[in-house]
Amino acid sequence: VEETLVLVKPDGVARNLTGEILRRIEAKGYQLVDIKFVEASRELLGAHYAEHEGKPFYEPLVEFMESGPIVAIRVAGNSVIEGFRSLAGTTNPTTAAPGTIRGDLGRDWGLKVQQNLVHGSDSVESAQRELALWF
Ligand code: ATP
Repeated sequence: VEETLVLVKPDGVARNLTGEILRRIEAKGYQLVDIKFVEASRELLGAHYAEHEGKPFYEPLVEFMESGPIVAIRVAGNSVIEGFRSLAGTTNPTTAAPGTIRGDLGRDWGLKVQQNLVHGSDSVESAQRELALWF
C-alpha cells in the first residue's frame, strides 16, 4: 500500500476546513495513518520546497507556510499519491475543477496567490522524502 504526505496549509486550518478535507480523504477510502499540527520552521520549509528555490513565488510561499499552523497527515491507500492529487485538483484554485478540494473550497488566486488549501506529494520519491521530513 502506498503512502503520501498531505498538508492542510495555513489557509485551510484558519478557515476551519481541516475536518472537511479529512472527511473527503476518508470518504474516498484512504487510511489516516498519522496526523499532527506543525508550526513549520524555515529550515523544514526550505527542505520541503527545495525544488522551488529561486522561483519568483518561493519567498512568498515560504512566508505563507510560516504564517500559521499546518496539519500534516500520513495517508495510505492504493495509488493514494495520484489519487489525492486528483481529489485536491489543479494548483490554481481559480480554475480547479468543481468536485475537487481546491475547486470547491479554494478562493480566487487573483486575491489569495499561494493559498490553495492543501499539499500532496507528487511521486513515490517525493512522498518518501517529504514523510521523512514532516514525521
Ligand atoms: P502542492 O505541491 O502544494 O500540492 P502543486 O504540486 O499543485 O501543489 P507545485 O508546483 O508543487 O504545486 O507548487 C507548490 C506550491 O507553490 C503550490 O501549491 C502553490 O501554493 C505555490 N505555487 C506554485 N506555483 C505558483 C505560482 N505560479 N504562483 C504562486 N504560487 C505558486
